Amino acid sequence: MKVRHYNIPIFIPELACPHQCVFCNQEKISGTEEAPKPEEISEIIDTWLSTIDTGNSHVEVAFFGGSFTGIPIILQEEYLQKVHPYIESGKVRGIRLSTRPDYINQDILDLLKKYRVTSIELGAQSLDKFVLKMAGRGHSVEDVEIASKLINENGFELGLQMMLGLPFDTKENSIYTAKKIIELGAKTTRIYPTLVIDGTALGKQYKEGTYQALSLENAIDWTKEIIMLFEDANVKVLRTGLHPSEEFEDDKSLIAGPYHPSFKEMVMTEVWIDKLSSIESEEKNLKIFVNPSQINFAVGYKAKNKTELLKNYNSVKVFGDEKLDKFDFYVGDN
Ligand code: SF4
Repeated sequence: MKVRHYNIPIFIPELACPHQCVFCNQEKISGTEEAPKPEEISEIIDTWLSTIDTGNSHVEVAFFGGSFTGIPIILQEEYLQKVHPYIESGKVRGIRLSTRPDYINQDILDLLKKYRVTSIELGAQSLDKFVLKMAGRGHSVEDVEIASKLINENGFELGLQMMLGLPFDTKENSIYTAKKIIELGAKTTRIYPTLVIDGTALGKQYKEGTYQALSLENAIDWTKEIIMLFEDANVKVLRTGLHPSEEFEDDKSLIAGPYHPSFKEMVMTEVWIDKLSSIESEEKNLKIFVNPSQINFAVGYKAKNKTELLKNYNSVKVFGDEKLDKFDFYVGDN
């Protein structure tokens, strides 16, 4: 039976962040949501566990939202201590967290190791020196390289998140960033097209006309290529674009940028049309077999790919075949 993976999310917003990333509205991040107190952690975990069949699941606790290793050490330890009994009992298999590359050093990693943190995700954003500088991140490419090396050497799973379309970013730059992420040994990644939020430095640049946001079309095109690079290198893409339930659906603070609630589906539609356009079949009623997880993507967002194929075929049907790898397909009667 397939083991199901669950993350128990615990949102730890960054309090009084000293940095000035151009895309970030700190007021919103630190003002509206409060971090749970350490004594509330057990209740959060218990509530989630009561909804999960733990016998057949791999459950992890995920501290996300800010830079976990940037909060005071005492508080980090208090949070981790609260998760520890669940790890000891086997109900929770590990802890994931996200942080900044310049908030990693050997002492911090020793603490995280002690409490059995398994995965560390760093916000790398861009590995092009100039783009990173202009993003106002306040850390260097070298910081990402050093932190990645330390994380790998200490046996954690490394994740490196990237953004597309920051000021002065280009498709070539972002492909370079993706290749560098692979080279640095990341096992996971998240791809975030840059969105322009009111109240940010980027919002100001956009209103002044000095920054042009990435179009949805370009964001899809760049992401499509980058996803395949990661796929070929076995780097797991945990997220592509923002999740509609999390942000922006009804929020007036988004002023520009390639946001779409079905962004991932649109990207995967393009990945699949590239593959399916190689089909040359004498049979006019086309039956395409793909891995079941890919059926919707092969059919396409709003059946785009199916409609395209129907220009050359009388009918097009897409079926699932468990035996196929994620991006393999065949045409036939099964
Ligand atoms: S994105 Fe940048 S400015 Fe915003 S909270 Fe994180 S480190 Fe601070």
